[in-house]
Amino acid sequence: MKPQQKRMNKVEHIGIAVKSLDAGNALYEKLFGIPPYKIETVASEGVNTSFFKMGDSKIELLEATNPDSAIARFIEKRGEGVHHIAYAVTDIKAELKRLKAEGFEVINEEPKAGADNKWVAFLHPKSTKGVLIELCQDRD
Ligand code: ZN
Repeated sequence: MKPQQKRMNKVEHIGIAVKSLDAGNALYEKLFGIPPYKIETVASEGVNTSFFKMGDSKIELLEATNPDSAIARFIEKRGEGVHHIAYAVTDIKAELKRLKAEGFEVINEEPKAGADNKWVAFLHPKSTKGVLIELCQDRD
């Protein structure tokens, strides 16, 4: 067994799909009493994102920028709501390899550049009891 810190070590953020980032931001600002610390477009994923921080925890709101984006399809099928749970890892490539060997269905064979300066990769919900799981690692 490898040391635990090499594996997923905390919930990094929870991703929530919203139809409108402006409306989502207004609602969550009211809820938390603070504005998002970051608003960022990830063109490759077709999403606009915003991040709220409370202590160590973060909430990511995701809005589709086009009807083909995964977020647009998610909202069409399931409506607004929790989209994914992201876990922090220190070696995303090693974790992907380990989880694949354990039988998890990996959506991204290679990590890709995600929002908030992270490398990200996803595990398919059908291999994780219905939850889309994001692995993320700081990008520098
Ligand atoms: Zn995320």
